[in-house]
Amino acid sequence: MEPPATPHDPPSLRLPVGYEIPRDQPARKLAAVSSSGGDGNILSQLAGNPFFTAGFGLASLGAGLALVQRGVRQGAALLKRRLLVDLEISRNDESYQWFLHWMSQFQRAQISNTSVLQSRRIAADVAGSRAETPDRKVATTKEKTGILSAVIKRLTPGLHHLSIQTSKINNPNGSLNTHFSLIPGPGRHILRYKNTFIAVKRERETKSMNLQTGSPWETVTLTTLYSQRHIFEALFTEAHQLAMQLQEGKTVIFTAWGTEWRPFGQPRRKRPLESVVLDEGIKERIVKDVKDFLGSGRWYFDRGIPYRRGYLLHGPPGSGKTSFIQALAGELDYNISLLNLSERGLTDDRLNHLLTNVPARTIVLLEDVDAAFGNRRIQTDTDGYRGANVTFSGLLNALDGVASAEERIVFLTTNHADRLDDALVRPGRVDMAVHLGPATRWQVERLWDRFYGDDGHHLLDPHGDGKRRFVRELERLGLLGGGGRGTTTGTSTAALQGLFLYHKGDVEGAIRAADSLLDGAVVA
Ligand code: ADP
Repeated sequence: MEPPATPHDPPSLRLPVGYEIPRDQPARKLAAVSSSGGDGNILSQLAGNPFFTAGFGLASLGAGLALVQRGVRQGAALLKRRLLVDLEISRNDESYQWFLHWMSQFQRAQISNTSVLQSRRIAADVAGSRAETPDRKVATTKEKTGILSAVIKRLTPGLHHLSIQTSKINNPNGSLNTHFSLIPGPGRHILRYKNTFIAVKRERETKSMNLQTGSPWETVTLTTLYSQRHIFEALFTEAHQLAMQLQEGKTVIFTAWGTEWRPFGQPRRKRPLESVVLDEGIKERIVKDVKDFLGSGRWYFDRGIPYRRGYLLHGPPGSGKTSFIQALAGELDYNISLLNLSERGLTDDRLNHLLTNVPARTIVLLEDVDAAFGNRRIQTDTDGYRGANVTFSGLLNALDGVASAEERIVFLTTNHADRLDDALVRPGRVDMAVHLGPATRWQVERLWDRFYGDDGHHLLDPHGDGKRRFVRELERLGLLGGGGRGTTTGTSTAALQGLFLYHKGDVEGAIRAADSLLDGAVVA
């Protein structure tokens, strides 16, 4: 029988049923006895004490469990280290975009393997469950995207987090197509590639971000079995090939984004050199010079001269400066890193950093180079924005610093040659300066031939009679001087192209409208 507890007994001293404390050894004394220790009698008392043995049992059970847990954790980590292999790609790496693109394509291929009927059934199913009434039509783009994403989720159960990536495609005819692709979003995904399971973890660091670009840091980690690690090589080769296919026959334009260069829009179709009409021999002269430069790396290295070459194209707007550089890039199979020097917020430091970190095989194009000449000293704008633009000395420093193991081709353009300083046009900074002026007779005739010589079916002006009349008309209007630098006023090649485009296939219309070119007359 349990002895009745007195009101003073601490509750912890309540004894289990059937247990009695010997009369000569009050329970209260237990603590004092145990702390005095060292007595064999005490040990046997402890052993016989149920509190002690129960507590001890529990403590050792806890410790044992903790040990097992630690062992399992360590074992799992060891196993993981032995059996699994991780591959981490950070956002800054070029392969990051390739991989995401590859994954979206991989996903698409998986979907196309399922029958159209099956996809339609799922889409109808998803749409039905989303619509409030069965016959309500799915109208908004948001809804369509939602359904598409739901269908993909059902078909590719490993992918549960998707991001949408919108890209614009410039068609050769000038129109623009918007293209959506669903790429794996942040989170964990499982994919099965060549019968191997790969865990994909896309992580976005929300706490830290790239201060230059404002974008969060991101990494993608791929994990697979150690024995299957060769799969990564196959996967990245495929991803690289896919990325290259996308750029084949195209020119990528990089623009500055903070202190980084990033592709601007989709790669563009290469512009053929023949499509740019410069005055007689100019194009050939520049192309030859650039090709000679690219072929003489040894000569530069042997003499310890920085392997770079600078070109300056100057002349009125619309004379084909940018178009020519684009065509030249296509001809050399190079890309373009484009920077406008009048861009607000472009400081000397940023310019310097950007020019020393140019993507491989690109022509650096610095537009509006005269913008730097208005800023010989750091100025304060009317709104107090100090040092917003590149200064003259900043530009010179940046150009002088453009030296790397690789070749560097820098093109500078300006519409205001008169503002340029001699210090810029010095070998090493600008090795070749070319003036592209108003259209010369030679250019007018070539452009005319391109539009009316042969439209693909028949010659619109077979004997060149229309061409002669058009040229005479320009002379009468005072828009064709002797050509080249001697020309005072004239018309830009861009304006001519605009007129010919407007009167496409209409020789007489073009001749009649020649006087409209007076409005946009340019001064050399
Ligand atoms: P710039 O850089 O000199 O201001 P652009 O190269 O931007 O001139 O030309 C503007 C437009 O006019 C482009 O669409 C281009 O195709 C056309 N254009 C200008 N000049 C030429 C030229 N010499 N040959 C062919 N097209 C030209």
